[in-house]
Amino acid sequence: MEIFMAKYGEIALKGNNKRYFEQRLIKNIKRRISPLGEFEYMRAQSTLYITPMSENIDFDEAERRLLTIFGIGAVQRSISLPKDYNEIVRLGIPYLEKRLFLRKFPKSFKIEARRADKTFPMNSMELMREFGGAVLEAFPSLQVDLHTPDVTIRLEIRDRNAFICADRLKGAGGIPVGCSGKALVLLSGGIDSPVAAAMMAKRGLSVDMLHFQSPPYTSERALMKVESLCERLSEYCGEINLYSVNLTQAQEEIRDTCPDEYMTVLLRRMMFKIAGKLCEERFYSAIITGESVGQVASQTAAAIICTDNAVNLPVYRPVIGMDKIEIVEIARKINTYEISTLPYEDCCTVFTPKHPKLKPKMEDIIKYEARLNPDFIQNFTENMTIKKF
Ligand code: ATP
Ligand code: MG
Repeated sequence: MEIFMAKYGEIALKGNNKRYFEQRLIKNIKRRISPLGEFEYMRAQSTLYITPMSENIDFDEAERRLLTIFGIGAVQRSISLPKDYNEIVRLGIPYLEKRLFLRKFPKSFKIEARRADKTFPMNSMELMREFGGAVLEAFPSLQVDLHTPDVTIRLEIRDRNAFICADRLKGAGGIPVGCSGKALVLLSGGIDSPVAAAMMAKRGLSVDMLHFQSPPYTSERALMKVESLCERLSEYCGEINLYSVNLTQAQEEIRDTCPDEYMTVLLRRMMFKIAGKLCEERFYSAIITGESVGQVASQTAAAIICTDNAVNLPVYRPVIGMDKIEIVEIARKINTYEISTLPYEDCCTVFTPKHPKLKPKMEDIIKYEARLNPDFIQNFTENMTIKKF
């Protein structure tokens, strides 16, 4: 029977509270793969054995989903066999025939054997030699290469069963989502903020999203784009609440009462203040943004100081030191890139001044903010909707 072994990533290094991380991981895995069928879960030695309990489970889809779950270091799709050497060869070789030549055409291999059950009559050296011989005989095109093999075949003798695995895939890594509390992402429809969200989810934060829109300047499509991003992100980030706040009125007020060159920084401070208030009301521990130093005028070091001190919370900016190419690489990996590059307007670009202030001054900001009606921030929830993903 085919099973999955999910090898822990960082969790394996945790001490006393390892159980807490494990339980969260299992909960997150169940949420993602139980729609595909019933599975049984068993923990042993930093490995989670995931055994299918119902027929006709789509294993490829289950594998794809497991690879998106933070906390898993590697996924090994394996066959579970009786603990009898003859049976291991009889059933293991046809399984290898199916799996070995699936993704690539390997020319060389090595066997890694482990005997956790010391009562098994062959030790790991004997297993490697004997089973290696059986593989060579079955697949004459393969050669042994102990140093840089194209594939590593893993043979494990455990308490109840033996397992053979021909494909070990790198997992998403990190810490299970939910283990580090929750934070609020300022999610635009761009490339950077979805990447920032996934990077912090990888550190165990459960993330909800706050999006600002400015209808009629931004279209319904722009909001739909952000909704598609949330749907896509929920593969990696788990359940997501999307708050969307209509900022039109406040933006028009800034435009009508403050100098053009200060619009960008004033708008961003407004966004941060609303986010800060939402965090306070709903117990988020931090704000997350997709800012990267120097990328645009609102992201100069001087402008970042001005946005930072609009709130009392920590602001996490995981992509702050990355260049666009590195960010795009992650966006492609988490499958948000093609949605992010759809063309719709973001509210930030609506009244963008020709020459935004590169070094805004706090004293000026305070002066201009005094011109704005404080009710908008005070009562922003009147302009807010919530949707679950
Ligand atoms: P992104 O690719 O994430 O849109 P960007 O390079 O376009 O970033 P800005 O438009 O300056 O940069 O936005 C910087 C950050 O501000 C974004 O990463 C996001 O966290 C936040 N932000 C921008 N626009 C919005 C919006 N409409 N709603 C919520 N947050 C926003
Ligand atoms: Mg943007």
